[in-house]
Amino acid sequence: MTGARSGDYHVHSRFSDGADELDAYCERALESGLSELGFAEHLTPAALADEGCCSARRLEEYGAAVRACAARHPELRVLCGIEADYVPESAAETLAALAAHPFDYVLCAVHFVDGFSIDEARFLRAAGWQDVDRVWRRYYETLTEAVRSGAFDAVAHLDLPKKWDLHPSEEMGHLEDDALAAIAAAGMAIEVNTSGLARHPVGEIYPSHNLLRRAGAANIAIVLGSDAHCAADVGARFAEAEAWARAAGYESWLRLSDRSPQPFPRTASGEPLG
Ligand SMILES: [Zn+2]
Ligand SMILES: [Zn+2]
Repeated sequence: MTGARSGDYHVHSRFSDGADELDAYCERALESGLSELGFAEHLTPAALADEGCCSARRLEEYGAAVRACAARHPELRVLCGIEADYVPESAAETLAALAAHPFDYVLCAVHFVDGFSIDEARFLRAAGWQDVDRVWRRYYETLTEAVRSGAFDAVAHLDLPKKWDLHPSEEMGHLEDDALAAIAAAGMAIEVNTSGLARHPVGEIYPSHNLLRRAGAANIAIVLGSDAHCAADVGARFAEAEAWARAAGYESWLRLSDRSPQPFPRTASGEPLG
């Protein structure tokens, strides 16, 4: 086999809304043959945060705990990332928290549109989702604003509003193009996130094949993420993620420990794995 084993840069432990302690994720990553593991707990503005978020005052403790965990697992490269919510009204608060803590990388997430969570089932019957097209429009507008803030390294789950299998009736192409152009201009990566395939009603990896192909044409790098909320899901469906990326024209993924592109593994005869 040639090429580097993958890294999973999107897992949640008990420091936000995950079920397990840090070490359990590392052990699972090693069992899965991963070379790197990045924790990316939720950082959400105080006005919208619940007990499933890592509060700003716990970020110090979180960083120290990940460093200690990394020291216990020298055979795995363990990184301390964060999945930071971008909410326009609270952007200053988020950017200040990010500036104050030396994370290895920052994932950009838009879970809130017009003040409600598009990520949680309990809001599906709320007023906000009555206009699906508006949710999608506001999502991409917010994401593009977030990317232009310059505070992030990679976009998490690029087309998250499809989570509930609610799709826009109108063409979103120009808003997607704006977001992709901003991501490329910022030199950011996007995530190929398997949670949509593994656990969400949509049953498809984020982002769609069409978006991923256009991202590749814009020379936007990809990172892999499972969005695991328990240790058992670390690296889940990564063979399919690699096949998804390959089908969209990608030959490599971005290793976040040194920001270098790594070719997807191939067998000795040159065949792709998975
Ligand atoms: Zn997320
Ligand atoms: Zn997440």
